[in-house]
Amino acid sequence: MGSSAPSRVLVVGLGRSGLAAARLAAHDGSEVCATDLRSERDLGEVLRELPEGTRRYLGGHPSSALDGIGLVVCSPGVAPSAPILADARRRDIPVVTEVEFAWRHRTDRPMVAVTGSNGKSTVTVLVAAMLSESGVTAAAGGNLGTAACELVLTGGWDCWVLEISSFQAELLTEMRPSVGVFLNLSQDHLERHPDITSYLAAKRRLFSFQTSRDAAVLNADDAAVSETPSRARRLLFSLERSADAWLDGELLRLGDQILTERSKCSLGGIHNVTNGLAAALAAVELGATTEGVARTLETFRGLSHRHLTVFEQNEVRWVDDSKATNVGATIAALRGYPERSVHLILGGQAKGQDFEAMIPEVKRSAARVYVIGIDGPSIAAVLADAAPIEDCGTLEEAVMRARREARPGQWVLLAPACASFDQFSGFAQRGEKFAALAREEGARCP
Ligand code: ADP
Repeated sequence: MGSSAPSRVLVVGLGRSGLAAARLAAHDGSEVCATDLRSERDLGEVLRELPEGTRRYLGGHPSSALDGIGLVVCSPGVAPSAPILADARRRDIPVVTEVEFAWRHRTDRPMVAVTGSNGKSTVTVLVAAMLSESGVTAAAGGNLGTAACELVLTGGWDCWVLEISSFQAELLTEMRPSVGVFLNLSQDHLERHPDITSYLAAKRRLFSFQTSRDAAVLNADDAAVSETPSRARRLLFSLERSADAWLDGELLRLGDQILTERSKCSLGGIHNVTNGLAAALAAVELGATTEGVARTLETFRGLSHRHLTVFEQNEVRWVDDSKATNVGATIAALRGYPERSVHLILGGQAKGQDFEAMIPEVKRSAARVYVIGIDGPSIAAVLADAAPIEDCGTLEEAVMRARREARPGQWVLLAPACASFDQFSGFAQRGEKFAALAREEGARCP
């Protein structure tokens, strides 16, 4: 940005991304102001990470924080409807997201931007791994791991792969990823968006500023996704029909080349075949080789809490898919299992989702369902006819009961379709607890 940097920048929200934005703004030579709803006491040590001399407005977003501001940079967690952003717009102060702020600094480097309801993190990391495996230095981050602004500050990469949430996409004003990837759309975050149409519109915005020099990688099996308007070249992936990348029986194909066989893919679950195909299209656009792509598909170990086997005993496998925080992810997880083979642990905060959509897949794949958390009872009521169901209240109780019921050749799957905050600090703690309980119980009664 350099000489065109605004003289005074306000960063809204001091999470990992906000702090990185503040540091990047300081690096540009801008005067930095920062505001957060949390108080000075709640933020504590975090404040040390702000650039020296940052003017702070804490415990709320006062309108006065906007005085003299030339640019507002907002963190991914700040809702586009936040009053401070509306106030900024009323005062004609431009508002950008942290990721767009980062992009403005590195428009010279190709960017892959990944959005969708499920699979963003997995695909982001897969694309970067495919590029690295092909000798292209790629940095991965955004919503996951390192903030986009931090990647700019660190440098040392040829291209970047960023995970983009719907909030970040919704506020874009000009960001033009060289490759945009739209994986799928299922009900989620309806507590944040007024309805599914506005949630879709938010995600589609990622493709709004692309030109014919860019590529839009879209899921041909999801109508809402494949009909995304864009001037970019459309590259389609599919599990069902011939496309730019597709599953042809047991073969993963990219154009007329065979990448690998499904049985050789290191990540389980049919949804990960989708992810692999989408990632392959994006990575090849930025210079990955088919060999590099294939090697990655066969060796990539996956991310924690995304459908990973964490324990096995007496031929029962325990699978942690704690990151399945919505109905779509849980349905996708269940699809890979044989009939009536899964002891499914569900529940937590349901976020207003419709659990009826799960009935057919639960009916097919679940041997038994164990519900936990605040919305467990209402989920149990919806799924009552789909499978034998027990309201367990806690994860401890669910694990104990599942252990008693599971037979050799079956699975115990934590794929809760819900947020975890009623009982845990987040999906990671919920997944770790599940793995620990499975092992502890296993040690007690081998
Ligand atoms: P996100 O970053 O979009 O939350 P993750 O890669 O972290 O995506 O995966 C979140 C959850 O969604 C996990 O439970 C994972 O098993 C599931 N998942 C991953 N890819 C897909 C997909 N293509 N379709 C549906 N569910 C998926």
